[in-house]
Parts: sequence; C-alpha cells; structure tokens
Amino acid sequence: MVRVRLAPSPTGTLHIGTARTAVFNWLYAKSQNGVFLLRIEDTDKERSKPEFTQNILEGLQWLGIDWAEDPVIQSERVGQHRDAIQTLLDKGLAYRCYANESELATMRDAQKASNQPPRYDNRHRHLTAEQEAAFQAEGRDAVIRFRINDDAEIHWNDLVRGTMRWRGGDLGGDMVVARRAPADQIGDPLYNLVVVVDDAAMAITHVIRGEDHIANTAKQLLLYEALALPAPTFAHAPLILNADGKKLSKRDGVTSINEFRSMGYTAEAIANYMTLLGWSVPEGMEERFSLKEAADQFSFDRVNKAGARFDWDKLNWLNAQVLHGWSSEQLLEVLRPMWIKNGWSVPNNNGWNLELCELLGPSLTLLNDGVEQASPFFECPALEDDGIKQLQSEGAKAAIGHLIDALQAERWTGTDLDQAKTLLGDAAKAAGVKKGVVMKSLRAALLGRLQGPDLLTTWSLLAKIGNDLPRLQRCLS
Ligand code: GLU
Repeated sequence: MVRVRLAPSPTGTLHIGTARTAVFNWLYAKSQNGVFLLRIEDTDKERSKPEFTQNILEGLQWLGIDWAEDPVIQSERVGQHRDAIQTLLDKGLAYRCYANESELATMRDAQKASNQPPRYDNRHRHLTAEQEAAFQAEGRDAVIRFRINDDAEIHWNDLVRGTMRWRGGDLGGDMVVARRAPADQIGDPLYNLVVVVDDAAMAITHVIRGEDHIANTAKQLLLYEALALPAPTFAHAPLILNADGKKLSKRDGVTSINEFRSMGYTAEAIANYMTLLGWSVPEGMEERFSLKEAADQFSFDRVNKAGARFDWDKLNWLNAQVLHGWSSEQLLEVLRPMWIKNGWSVPNNNGWNLELCELLGPSLTLLNDGVEQASPFFECPALEDDGIKQLQSEGAKAAIGHLIDALQAERWTGTDLDQAKTLLGDAAKAAGVKKGVVMKSLRAALLGRLQGPDLLTTWSLLAKIGNDLPRLQRCLS
C-alpha cells in the first residue's frame, strides 16, 4: 500500500512550492490507490504558529486535496526523536561535540582562507573520556553529531532523476542531529533525524518533495541505515522558477496560495497549473484537466528534471477556461458574495442575477473581473473620455433625447428585445443619424464608455432595475 505525506512547516502561509509538492503527492497516492497523509513539522517553536497550520489545511482543502488520518503533529513526538538519538549514541554512531561557536567560526575562516568548502572537520569524533570530562568541567554545552564517513557511498533510484550517487565526504562532515544542550541531556532534535524517525513511524513508502532536499535525502539514507529502519523510495520534483530562471521566492511577489485566491484564481485552475509545473501531459490529453483526471494518468516518468518556469499567461488561460466552463449558477454563487462585500445593493431577483452572470461569464479571466465588470450594473459609471466624445458627436444628443422621450411615454421593461430594436430605429430616424450612432451613444450613456458586453442585454438588465432612463438623462443635463 502506497503511503505518501506532505510535511509542511507552519512557519508561513501555504506556499506555491508546498502546494505543488502536495499535488504531486496526492496525484501519486490516488494513481496507486494509496493514501496521502499530513505531518505538521512544528518543531521550530519560535516561527511555528497555529494560524499558519490552519491556513495550510484550509488551502489544501480549497485546492481539493484531501488527506487520510489525523495530521501527525511532529512536536508531540519529541520523545521518539530523542530515543532514536539515544540509540545512535548507544551504537557509537553519534557523539557529543563540544566545539563552541567561536571555535567553529575560526575553523570555517581557515577553510575559506585555503579555498576549501565549509565543513565540520569532525574534531570531536574521537574525544577521550578525559577530554570530554574536561569540556564538561568547563561547563560547555554540546550538540550531538551523527558520524558520516567520508568514504560512505550513498545511492538511490530516484523516481524522477534516476540513479543518484553521493559520497559521504560531500555532506559537510558529521551532522548535528540535536541542538546544543547541557552534556547530560539531549537537545532539540533536528530536521534530518526527525524526518527519518517520523517517516518510518508513519510507514511512508514514497517521499516526494522538491529537489532542494536532495542532499538531505543522502543524509537521511545514512540515518535509515544507522537506525535499521526501512528506507522509502524517493522522488525529487523540479523547482519552480521565476521568469529569470531563478528559484521562485517571496521577492517575485505572489507566492502564497491565499494571494492567488484573493486575486480571483479558482482552485481548479491553480491545482491544474500546479500539476503542469513539472509534469507534462501524455499525448492526446488536454492541458486543462481536473486533479482526478490527472491522477488517472499520473506517473513519474512524465515529471521533468529541469526547473519549471512559472508562466502567468498559462495560468490565466487555464483560469479563463475554468470560468468559461462554469454555469451561471456556479458563477453567481461565488460572485454574489463578492458584489455584496463591495457594498452594492444586489437585486433579490435571482433571474436578473443569473442573466448578469451569463452576460459577463464569457469575458472573465479572473473571478475578480466579475466584480469589476459588474460594477456599472450596480453603480452609475462616470463618463469616460471616449464616452464623452461619442455623446458630443453629430446627432448623438438628439438621438438620446428621442430615446428619453420614447421611454418617458412608455417605459421599456427590458424583456422584449424587438421592442428595444424598434426604439433604437425610431430614435435614429427622428435624429437623422445611422442606427450605429444611436447604439454607440446608448452604450456611452449606460456604461460611460464604448467598451463593454452585449448592448441589448446590458440595456435590458439596466431597464429591469429602472436604471436606464436616469443614465440617459444625465447625458443631456
Ligand atoms: N518541513 C520540510 C519542508 O517544509 C519537509 C521536507 C520533507 O518533505 O521532508 O521543507
């Protein structure tokens, strides 16, 4: 049974990179009839916040990513983590290192001066009992380090990247697995150790995460061996890159799922796009798909090794595809609360609301466009330059005048479109202008400008709430 997990640190809101890792894990789990689990890695006490955990869980739910079992809370498992460290100490595979910060800094400076890569030089690996006692007598605290032999050979078959080989010597020397603490204690256990203990306890079969964790995987494999735990299979997904080909970071602006959501992106489009960030669709499959459809096709041989460039145009295209596929009812459900939040008095008439959604739907890229484009239906738009120019053109005002007269004699209720066409024709004749002039002027009067959705439907919607006549009248005052 395939068991995968997402292991977010609740030190910030749900980030796009974490969301993409979540999507790949979820897709793989579904494709294998396996389970997708969550582990909240909240061991950084200062930076972890419950509201971030909440945000991450809500963001995943919003994206349509569900998980099995209760999320594992890493901080509740510190006893097991300490036990594992004790096991390493007992086996002689870990030891206390008393080197203090200033000694370590001196060591790194010397390495830098001789152009060597920075690494811990394993200086306390073989302390004698007397040496240890002397450091302790000095009152020194110690970190606990796991031994990494330089000649250790590490290899694994990465589901994305194929055979991966590392040498122990490339991992920076003996690795700290517990933070500094008095020498008779075990300090706070650190990431690589904790992840191995937890993944093993959760019986994780496949660890799927970003390629920035590759060196960690090498270290973790040594820990699996040392703790005699079965190692999972690994898959490292490519990084998400910005337009300059650099790793996407906070500096690139929008990176949190929240922000995408508040910009008007749909969960479907985001989940779809996350999948395409690193996975190429098999031949014959459309790039617009649901997560379920992707799960049926998902496999790691279609996950690219190269970084995935973030492409706003593609995301916008997908979002438009999603919105264009929505029914007016679906749109209304999301847009109505947004209209109300804007302080607009939205008519209670459901038919009217649905008609407005039907009118706007095909031109939406973002949900927020459905607020911007709905605005002239709720508040009278100011006349813009092109609208003013149109209303100043020959015969425009006369035509508007005739329309006003006709509407004052008998209001158009907005239902019979043939009647509207007759009104426009009559006004053109009476003002001695082409029908096109009347239509453009009407558009300018109703919307304040010459761009906008279908004119007759627009007029009909405004007529139904009695907003057409005042807008025509303001053009003549
Ligand atoms: N908490 C780690 C992170 O957010 C988890 C990495 C892993 O999947 O092992 O980067």
